[in-house]
This record gives sequence, C-alpha cells and structure tokens, in this order.
Amino acid sequence: MNSLQTALVLGVIAFCGLPQVALSQSNTKVALDPKRAFSYLKKICDIGPRVTGTEGMEEQQDLLEQHFKKLGAKITWQEFNIRHPENGRNVVVKNLIVTWNPDETERVLLSTHYDTRPYPDKDLRNPKGIFIGANDGASGTALFMEMGHVLQKLPLKVGVDLVFFDAEEIVFDAQRDPLFIGSTHFAQTYVDDPTTPRYRSGILIDMIADSDLQLFYEQNSLKYAKPLVEEVWGIAKELKISAFKPSVGYEITDDHLPLNSIAKIPVIDLIDFDYTRGAKGKSFWHTTGDTPEQCSGTSMIKVGSVLIEWIKRQK
Ligand SMILES: [Zn+2]
Repeated sequence: MNSLQTALVLGVIAFCGLPQVALSQSNTKVALDPKRAFSYLKKICDIGPRVTGTEGMEEQQDLLEQHFKKLGAKITWQEFNIRHPENGRNVVVKNLIVTWNPDETERVLLSTHYDTRPYPDKDLRNPKGIFIGANDGASGTALFMEMGHVLQKLPLKVGVDLVFFDAEEIVFDAQRDPLFIGSTHFAQTYVDDPTTPRYRSGILIDMIADSDLQLFYEQNSLKYAKPLVEEVWGIAKELKISAFKPSVGYEITDDHLPLNSIAKIPVIDLIDFDYTRGAKGKSFWHTTGDTPEQCSGTSMIKVGSVLIEWIKRQK
C-alpha cells in the first residue's frame, strides 16, 4: 500500500492487543491451510525483490501461472508498457487475471498487488537496502494462491476473478513517480472495452499477514462502498474472527481508488496498516524489516476465511 492521507482516526488510537481467536478448520468450513499459505508467502519472498519489469517479477509470474494452471483456472495476462520512472527505458507491466467459472456473467473481483517497491525508502538505516515485501506484496499474492485450492472445489454461483495488479509502486521518488499504474490501466480498460467481464463488486487485500492482525474500516472504502464494508465485517463477526475491528481506521490510498473512481466498481480495501510491534514500535512498512518473520499464516487464513464465506454467499 502507499501514502497515508490522514493520520489516526477514532478507533485506531487504542492499542487493541493480539487477536484472541484461534481459527480452526471447523468454524470456517473450508480447507484453507495456514501452513501452506505461509509456505507460499515464503516461496515468493525467497525469489527476492519482485519489482515491476525485473527478473524477480518474471520468476514470480512463472510461479503464479504454473500454480493456477495446475489448479484448473483460466489465466489472462493484461500487458502494457510504461517508461521507467528513472531511466526512461521501456518497462513491461503485466496484470494477472485468474478466472474461475469463466462463462458466468455475474462476477466478483478479488485483487491484490504483486509487485514490490524498488527500495525500502522508509528504512532510516538502509533506505537503499533490499526490500522483500513479505506483507506489502507477498501476503495477498500468497493468500490467493492458497485460496485457489478452495476455489477449485467450491460450487460457485458466480464467476470469481483473482486480479494481481502490477506496478502498484514502481516508485523511486515518492514525490515524482505515479502509483497504482496497473490498477489504473485495468480500470481504464474496463471502461473502454465493454467486452471485458463486468463485476458487481470487489475486495482488495493488502498487508494482511501481520502476525498482529487488526483490520479496521478503511475510510475510502466507507466512502465508496459502505454496505460492502458492513457486509464483510458482519461475516467476520459471524465467523468470530475478532481481528476484524468494527470501527473506523485509516484513510488509505490504494488500488481500490481507480477501481471505484474510474471503473465504478464498488471495491473495499482490507488492510492492516499498523505494522508495528509493541505500543511504541516502529513500523516495518517500506523497510528492510518487512520480512516473513513478521507474518503469520494464521492471519492470512483469517482474511481468507472471510473472503471465501463472502464468495459463498454470492447468488
Ligand atoms: Zn507499499
């Protein structure tokens, strides 16, 4: 995720402690596996940085294509070119669309970004160090890999597309370089090309693997798609997943903005921006500290369970 527009609001101020719910298979009724989910996150991070247009990104693209093909999904690459923000060279940007139930006209969209920021520019000690993006990049990608095992078997009443946005943050200079390039292209194509699938609604996930997971209502999501926010947090309550906090949190600019403002698809953002340890801990966001050690498969499955239940309720 990216720039934070406003600071703490209301409910976020209180430190809420570790989530108390130990999630079991029985209360989710789906075969999401936290260990396997985490192993995917680890596998992605083992590639190293996955910056748009680099070899690391290509390796990740191969991994994802093989994974979802093996599970029987339809794979579509939405490819276009941009100029590299620093050197002006051509960069290939590739959004990945993984389609389940392709013939269904009623569809929902689940999305994440899968590129990583070129540098950990919030790292005070090493702002030109290696950025792995375990939570910010790999977490949503890995959860979708895990969810593929469930989607493969689920009797779906609607079509489901998992969309992996590229170039969310090919940012070398935060003042200069644009964000959300992949999702903006996706949204503009959606408007320009009526033959692309239509979506009734969607959910974006970003930074969902923090071992201390707390998900508050995100303010732009409330602005664009309040009923969907209430529906999703309502499902979490029913499933007794207390990491979903029913109070207002940050206002976040993220890939859901072009989807709402350009494509006019109601999309909400599930994001835990409090990526710290302890009451006065420094954030791992955009630092060399955003590594698998800070992440948890159990956290990922909490989000995955809510997403699967939301999909199951689509009619
Ligand atoms: Zn980021």
